[in-house]
Amino acid sequence: MKHLAEYRNPATAKQLTGHIAALVTRPWTLMEICGGQTHSIMKYGLDRLLPEQVELIHGPGCPVCVTPLECIDKAIAIAQRPEAILCSFGDMLRVPGSGRDLLSVKAAGGDVRAVYSPLDAVKIARENPQRQVVFFAVGFETTAPAAAMAAFQAKQAGLANFSLLVSHVRVPPAMEALLDAPDNRVQGFLAAGHVCTVMGYTEYEPLARRYKIPIVVTGFEPVDILGGIHRCLKQLEEGRHEVENEYRRSVRREGNQPAQALLAQVFRVIDRPWRGLGVIPASGLGLSPEYAGFDAENRFELGTVSAPEPAECRSGLVLQGALKPDRCPAFGTRCTPEHPLGATMVSSEGACAAYYRYRHAAHA
Ligand code: SF4
Repeated sequence: MKHLAEYRNPATAKQLTGHIAALVTRPWTLMEICGGQTHSIMKYGLDRLLPEQVELIHGPGCPVCVTPLECIDKAIAIAQRPEAILCSFGDMLRVPGSGRDLLSVKAAGGDVRAVYSPLDAVKIARENPQRQVVFFAVGFETTAPAAAMAAFQAKQAGLANFSLLVSHVRVPPAMEALLDAPDNRVQGFLAAGHVCTVMGYTEYEPLARRYKIPIVVTGFEPVDILGGIHRCLKQLEEGRHEVENEYRRSVRREGNQPAQALLAQVFRVIDRPWRGLGVIPASGLGLSPEYAGFDAENRFELGTVSAPEPAECRSGLVLQGALKPDRCPAFGTRCTPEHPLGATMVSSEGACAAYYRYRHAAHA
């Protein structure tokens, strides 16, 4: 608990906000990539401690939120098969597909199980040799190594009844897509510390150079985030654009190389659609040819599923940082965590859920 107290220390936070206030001479717009960072910002009111010229906009780093509707529909189609056991992180169960969610499939008798790790799904496959066990593998580079380990273990054990429905995504191509957008407002990024713990930050260095934009690897506690903001603003005020590491207790420049080696063995880089952002080149991970036999899409012959987004939900704009959640007309009225219209309200890491929990519900 020593670290937790240290990184939530109000005196250190106050000192940092003082440094930030003394530093800023003009308006700047920063984006925090990760939904976990967005929740900390809302929970501790960090945005309200900053000078008025500094605006924080919220990025697409919520794994549940960026998983496309058609992929959720594929998971639902698998879960409805009598021979299948569909395993997923708990957050995915309540995310609406185009018609229903996984929880309603479970209520109707489908074998849908919430697991804490993909390795739990491998265990379930061992224990149920007559059933087809599928792990719904979503998320960023943070969760992909555990999914890769599950596929590796299943291959080693010769498990013919285990497969992955993969929707893993990579952060750097999404940052590039945001920077290339004609209406881009991001002038500095707080990169996601846990992603960089796995991948390091060498991939961010060409982005910082090409787009002349500071990128600061940042953690999730209030002092981490204020420290990341301070470093980012200092670079902007000094006209620098580098990658800096404000999360040194967890992140090394080269990242976790054994995890990267496992990812390279099990997955390959592919183009991937993101909810609200469309197809982003080289932004996804799909199973490598060596592991193609573990691809649930082939095993269940799911084909192409097309699923339009609900017209009222503007989560696409929220995920691009182009709309603050409380500016969505449905926020807090027709869309609440109890009756969510979109994934950004369902997920514990979603920006709409963060605004609802810490701004709307707290003042209702
Ligand atoms: S408040 Fe609800 S409807 Fe509006 S963008 Fe967020 S999830 Fe979608």
